[in-house]
Amino acid sequence: MTKYDNSNIFAKILRSEIPCKKVYEDDDILCFYDINPIADTHVLVIPKREYRSFDDFVTTAEPEYISLFFNKVAMIAKKLGLIESGYRIISNHGLNANQEVPHFHVHLIGGENLGGIKYK
Ligand code: 5GP
Repeated sequence: MTKYDNSNIFAKILRSEIPCKKVYEDDDILCFYDINPIADTHVLVIPKREYRSFDDFVTTAEPEYISLFFNKVAMIAKKLGLIESGYRIISNHGLNANQEVPHFHVHLIGGENLGGIKYK
């Protein structure tokens, strides 16, 4: 498997080499608005540690860190006021999912009715 490429855009955002519109940050994660939103609310949640994708994250990270990460995604959904109205989380892994940025991230999407899941 290819190793983590620290020249990816999210690694540059984490190093503050590229700006982002921040929603939340702590020692473990960063959350910021997607530059090309597909819904009224579209943020990205990323770990501050180096994982290439969802698969890399869940198969190599410590269970405590995985749990902490997803609890923080839920905390951000609450902070954005999405609990009552509902939201969707998506994580693209690899070629068929057209993963664009090889740093594990969760898309957190809501703020309007998202319809069903479509891929064609
Ligand atoms: P992926 O296809 O890897 O799951 O999604 C990558 C996401 O990152 C896309 O939704 C894209 O709009 C977003 N993105 C790409 N470059 C940047 C950037 O420089 N800043 C921000 N905020 N989002 C980006």
